[in-house]
Amino acid sequence: MTPNPRPRLAPHLAGLGTTIFAEMSALATATGSINLGQGFPDTDGPRVVAEAAARAVLEGRGNQYPPGVGIPELRQAIAAHQQAHYGIALDPGTQVLVTAGATEAIAAAVLALVAIGDEVIALEPYYDSYAATIAMARGTRVPVTLRAPDFALDVDALRAAVTARTRVILLNTPHNPTGAVLSRADLATIAEIAVQHDLVVISDEVYEHLTFDGAEHVPIATLPGMADRTVTIGSAGKTFSFTGWKVGWVTGSPELVAAVRTTKQFLTYVSAGPFQYAVAEALALPPAVYTDLRDRLQSQRDLLCAGLADLGFEVYVPRGTYFATTDVRPLGWEDGMDFCRALPQRCGVVAIPHQVFYDNVDVGRPLVRWAFCKQPEVLSDALARLRDGRLAR
Ligand code: PMP
Ligand code: GLN
Repeated sequence: MTPNPRPRLAPHLAGLGTTIFAEMSALATATGSINLGQGFPDTDGPRVVAEAAARAVLEGRGNQYPPGVGIPELRQAIAAHQQAHYGIALDPGTQVLVTAGATEAIAAAVLALVAIGDEVIALEPYYDSYAATIAMARGTRVPVTLRAPDFALDVDALRAAVTARTRVILLNTPHNPTGAVLSRADLATIAEIAVQHDLVVISDEVYEHLTFDGAEHVPIATLPGMADRTVTIGSAGKTFSFTGWKVGWVTGSPELVAAVRTTKQFLTYVSAGPFQYAVAEALALPPAVYTDLRDRLQSQRDLLCAGLADLGFEVYVPRGTYFATTDVRPLGWEDGMDFCRALPQRCGVVAIPHQVFYDNVDVGRPLVRWAFCKQPEVLSDALARLRDGRLAR
């Protein structure tokens, strides 16, 4: 036996471990807990969209490799969506790329645009795949921290984070896990910085239709000087409540889309053939589909946030996404990870500790994220369990 076996995982990937979502969903299953951790709806999207997928399979559309860039019908539908909602004009032939969910779009974009040692500015707390893909590209992550209570962008911190090695700003709005929606003014500042320093912005907009209280989602690609330096990312998973289908997309200038296509073709080449037909149909549905989903989510948000506040948490009510953030200190806890690891045993509920999304771990230590993309009775049951369990430290 070798005394010190050589680690098989490449050193630059050490530390990535298992995603918090896998860990916490497994814990939910093992303990029979209500899973308010991983962000997936417990109700499927519109039946007509599911039927469109079933029809595509049965009619033999997309059962064999679709085109590498995505089927033309879906690329046209994505272009039409960007035009209808944001006035963005795109050539479906050169400016739209279909991906295996937003996850592949993020990975393909980062791997295409970031070289060894390049710096990528990301808003912290950040979605876990950002750190992982920057590590895969051997880039350097530079966090700009969003802080409670409103998780607004610190524009001075952003300016200070730019160096001669900065290549990319990786944005996410509406923002997971904080639920913040970047304002037009903040986006204008980011755009100005990107133009000044000749940076590319990768803008993850998977929650574009999930904003509340009338909050406006502004794609940064619509701001002056940004059309040719923004890679915009969307996903049918969030917009239509089919997270398992993994149909995402990238839009941008022909040059940027071609760059992302270069890496994407060697990651999956293609995926989800029949689902691409279904998503093309879904994107053509009237906007009531999004607004109904959004309105239902907003009332689920209100139910969960009010319940958590009643239980004594400090609650930061989100303006978008599937997620609400709380501070657990009013209940006597210091560390959200300890809280989340104990919660299934104590109360039969699973949530996600923020701290795994930070480089500045201390900022996120007392924060915990709760998903409200669940049926009202499930949320009420979870709140009852929290009330009846041993919630306080
Ligand atoms: N970006 C963000 C901010 C997300 O929250 C998620 C997952 N929910 C993704 C990307 C991944 O999306 P997809 O499931 O389409 O890969
Ligand atoms: N985006 C989902 C979330 O934030 C998780 C998706 C995943 O498990 N990769 O909960």
